[in-house]
Amino acid sequence: FSRGKTNKDKANRATVENVLDPRTMRFLQALMNRGIISDFNGCISTGKEANVYHAFAGSKQPNNHNELKNDDNSDVEKSNNSEEYPEKREEYAIKIYKTSILVFKDRERYVDGEFRFRNSRSQHNPRKMIKIWAEKEFRNLKRIYQAGVIPVPKPIEVKNNVLVMQFLNRGDGFASPRLRDYPYKDREEIYYYYYNMIADIRLLYQVCQLVHADLSEYNTLVHKDQLYVIDVSQSVQPEHPMSLDFLRMDIKNVNFYFEKMGIDIFSERLLFQFVISETLPNFQGDMRSLPDLMDYIKKNLIVKKTVEDEAEDEVFRSLYLVRNLNGLEERDFDRFTEGKFDLLKSLLAHDNEKNFSNSYDKNINEFDDDDGDDDGNSDDDLE
Ligand code: ADP
Ligand code: MG
Repeated sequence: FSRGKTNKDKANRATVENVLDPRTMRFLQALMNRGIISDFNGCISTGKEANVYHAFAGSKQPNNHNELKNDDNSDVEKSNNSEEYPEKREEYAIKIYKTSILVFKDRERYVDGEFRFRNSRSQHNPRKMIKIWAEKEFRNLKRIYQAGVIPVPKPIEVKNNVLVMQFLNRGDGFASPRLRDYPYKDREEIYYYYYNMIADIRLLYQVCQLVHADLSEYNTLVHKDQLYVIDVSQSVQPEHPMSLDFLRMDIKNVNFYFEKMGIDIFSERLLFQFVISETLPNFQGDMRSLPDLMDYIKKNLIVKKTVEDEAEDEVFRSLYLVRNLNGLEERDFDRFTEGKFDLLKSLLAHDNEKNFSNSYDKNINEFDDDDGDDDGNSDDDLE
């Protein structure tokens, strides 16, 4: 915190590493004074929009600790090798959003149309915008953490542009690796994390009511043999007008990565349907259970093989998928799905159950009934 002392010095008033402006420094100082953090250490990551730092927990726990559900993640990280890494204090990752304005520009579309942030009409004030952004990440993180179905770092505290969460320690003091950097032991393990990622997308959507909207091998960490989802500031609820577009993009990115890793993947369209269908044919087990879903994915989804499969994914990518307040707003989809739902269903190994994709059918039918938009100029709307 030696930097803080000189903040009257004009040169040092300029944001340190574009993040630690005097205000941020004051907040970090306050966290230390309140005993929430005890040491503020090195930088874990410098990104376009935020930097992430490491800190040790202080003597006092923040207020919101009590209201957060406890689970085994909240334990002090236990080292595999306590000689190399004797530290037993709880550790935090402190994500500090940059106060520079430019990179935040395209972020508005994520907040626009979000019911939860509809009253946050401070979108023209960059400082307030960043505050909203950090709060959004905190709320999303908390929502996933409390749902308890997918591992995420435990959220601790948020204020202005600073978010404090549990630090995921590899066991030797370093951060747990991103999936991108994870040294897979074998092919089996690549499949394992592919199924895990798909199950996560479904649980996020069905249980947490969120679409990640930036899911990739960069925003997932492998920690204690589990896949942790991070970086949820841009995640949106299913009601968001773009949510299905974001969902399709997440699926595409995840597939792209795993295909590159050399394993058989499922079609994007099949995965999309797997995620948004309330019911799954022949599903036995707990719909909220990650292992049960992974097992189902492994045994029931059929991999993408043929040229036709790829052609269909290409069409799927070009569909106009926007959800409005009344449900799914679908223009091309009618044309595309006419008589083709059987085909979608047949992509599943066992599809004896009629109710598969019912919720999706229903949404599409609802839209069919709505002629309000059919003014003959719908092509203009697509531009
Ligand atoms: P950005 O918006 O810059 O992408 P992220 O939330 O993805 O921010 O974090 C950037 C990097 O910081 C991650 O890729 C990861 O390596 C590290 N990181 C973030 N959160 C944690 C955490 N809770 N524990 C350990 N490392 C983390
Ligand atoms: Mg990231």
